[in-house]
Amino acid sequence: MYKIILKIIITGIHILCIPIIKVYEIFFKKYSLRVLLYHDIQTADFNDFERQIRHIKKKYRFIDIDEFEQILGGSTKPRENLVLLTFDDGFESNYHVANQVLSNHGIKAVFFIAVDFLQTYDMVGNSASEFILNNFKVKQHINSISLNCDQILRLSSLGHVFGSHSCSHNDLSQISKEKIEHEVIDSKNTLEKILNLKVNHFAYPFGGINNINSYSLKVIKDKYKHCHTGIRGNNLKYNNFIIFRDEISPSYNLLYLSALLSGFFDFIYYWKRSKVIDFINK
Ligand SMILES: [Zn+2]
Repeated sequence: MYKIILKIIITGIHILCIPIIKVYEIFFKKYSLRVLLYHDIQTADFNDFERQIRHIKKKYRFIDIDEFEQILGGSTKPRENLVLLTFDDGFESNYHVANQVLSNHGIKAVFFIAVDFLQTYDMVGNSASEFILNNFKVKQHINSISLNCDQILRLSSLGHVFGSHSCSHNDLSQISKEKIEHEVIDSKNTLEKILNLKVNHFAYPFGGINNINSYSLKVIKDKYKHCHTGIRGNNLKYNNFIIFRDEISPSYNLLYLSALLSGFFDFIYYWKRSKVIDFINK
């Protein structure tokens, strides 16, 4: 009974929000460049994930990393709403999502890899699940494993791109300068060796404002072209180094997803975006 009442209340709130979001989109919204952030996607959630992709495609065009960089560099002016798809951590499910879902839609994604997680692939025992619990700080045990190097090379040959998500997925705001340099620089070197390609993108582990500080930003800026956070926002409004991303779960309903991508909630993150921009300008 309680669940039915809760569902009626949530549905009512959604119905009330539809005209508010429509008005916002008509009068206030400008073209946007959003970056979506997903993590591990369990096989059971592939259908929900693909439903979200189909829904997003009604109003946004998925772009690849080359077009994304051209827009941020100012050489291409967007005339529509654009979106780039990213995945953090380096879960094996990303490989299957790319082959079973993204390939149906011609989408090329960016995968951010915590390189020490890769090494758990060849270890015996429960090394992957221990790493996930300890380093990704997930709240419950999950049975997922890491991508392996062959899968990374196959995805790369299909046009997907890889970025660094540090070595151990440490919170960069809580460790020494030497450890920050190791996480940021050694992860780039390892990935470049695996891929035999330049790695230009870094994504902050955890990605919140409290996980970012000026020293880590400085080291990242020295080594990479772009630094991805987990803070929401439209990337056409700011600079071409710090990237704001919308964390999305396949369980999000389509109305909430639309509201997030429309920028309806961006005002909540205004202070966090300003603080990160202040860090680089210091
Ligand atoms: Zn992560």
